[in-house]
Amino acid sequence: MKYISTRDNKKTYNFIDTFLNGLAHDGGLYIPKKIPRLSHTNLKRLSKLNYNNLAYEIIKIYTGNTFSKNELKKIITNSYKKFDSKNVVKFSRVKKFNLVELYHGPTFAFKDIAMQVIGNMYETILSKSKNRINLITATSGDTGAAAIDAVKNKKNLRIFVLHPSGKVSITQRKLMTTVNTKNVFNIAVKGTFDDCQTLVKSMFNDLQFRRSINMSGVNSINWARIVVQIVYYFYSHFRLSKKNKKSVFSVPTGNFGDIYAGYIAYKMGLPISKLIIATNENDLLYKFLRNGIYKPSKVKFSISPSMDIQVASNFERLISSYYDNNSKKISELMKQLSSKGFYKIDKNILRKIKNIFYSKSVNAENTKKTIKSVYKYNNKILDPHSSVGLKALEEYYLNHSKKSENLFCLETAHPAKFGETIYKILKKIPKISGEISKNLKKKEFYKVLPNNLNKIKNYIRANRLHC
Ligand SMILES: *Cc1c(COP(=O)(O)O)cnc(C)c1O
Repeated sequence: MKYISTRDNKKTYNFIDTFLNGLAHDGGLYIPKKIPRLSHTNLKRLSKLNYNNLAYEIIKIYTGNTFSKNELKKIITNSYKKFDSKNVVKFSRVKKFNLVELYHGPTFAFKDIAMQVIGNMYETILSKSKNRINLITATSGDTGAAAIDAVKNKKNLRIFVLHPSGKVSITQRKLMTTVNTKNVFNIAVKGTFDDCQTLVKSMFNDLQFRRSINMSGVNSINWARIVVQIVYYFYSHFRLSKKNKKSVFSVPTGNFGDIYAGYIAYKMGLPISKLIIATNENDLLYKFLRNGIYKPSKVKFSISPSMDIQVASNFERLISSYYDNNSKKISELMKQLSSKGFYKIDKNILRKIKNIFYSKSVNAENTKKTIKSVYKYNNKILDPHSSVGLKALEEYYLNHSKKSENLFCLETAHPAKFGETIYKILKKIPKISGEISKNLKKKEFYKVLPNNLNKIKNYIRANRLHC
């Protein structure tokens, strides 16, 4: 498998480059030169596998010979033995809708599914190469916790996590800051998630700084995360689809990483008829699907904070795919984005995108109503992000569904992660397992810093692992 950058389709890279670099040196994102399409026979064979074996087959396609068969099998088994579901995900049903519970990992959000694998990939690669690295990542709340759990106590690496101060839930924060190991550093930035993301991007684009600390990243732009997330689209369709029906997936969306993995599954030949971009009040992708204009604005704070994002980083990958990886065109669009604050795509491309994508923006009132109704009629507590997804799916079903589709909604977090919000809506506190709630009472460690690139770089320099 060869990779290129969205902004330069001449130079090729292998998996390990995309994995360790995160962001390409030209500022673009890594994408496969060609996405392989699976034959009918192949799909049939995969449909019989359990989760871990399916993960092995899919991940193997993209990692090539980076890992031996045994190494990759071990990475997957070790990653998922911490999950409280034998097949990583669980399913439940609300009316006509299948909910895919993706939150059975150690930090209760879907990000554990990819991050645990990534942590073990780092360990395997670093132990073979004798390299040492410093990971830097921005989080809107869940990535940080998942990344920290995945790498705490691992040798040869340190992690620095930037979260927007005061803008993540208490449980989200404590899952990060109560981890007291020598290789974990939490930074509370006085700014928004987009500010944190911009800071990390600037550090990535400062090649001298990047080299001096041997920097790597686990943000949702890391190609490996996308690869690992492809698996549950296949698994869900294989387990629950009814004969010959195509599947619809509604995906609570922020940085466009999760739903982009669904798009890759579709390109690989999984029979998907719609991918629903479910957003909260940060509706730039909903607007994009109406007029073809991608225009970030100011972040609106919502009750689904992990989706309070105005720069959907992975979207560049999707646009690149629809422009047949024409990196000149993509570079132009991205230049427009930074100079004018927006770009507009061609009408015929927008039409093609709309064949497979649909979007709905769900406000706080409807998010709350959905939580109440699902609790009342199905005795299930949805977290606010998943509620946005379910409401969008319901809307699609009532107005657009062809009736003969399998309807899936991805449940991206456990409600206990957003206990304060759920309590306000249901007057009930979602349960969290005993051991974890004990951990959350421990002392917190974090450094508050201003939204200032130099100050943050200095802090990282002073605490980095020397390479
Ligand atoms: C990260 C996150 C999302 C958004 O996923 P993207 O891949 O960034 O689109 C949605 N819900 C929850 C709970 C998350 O943690």
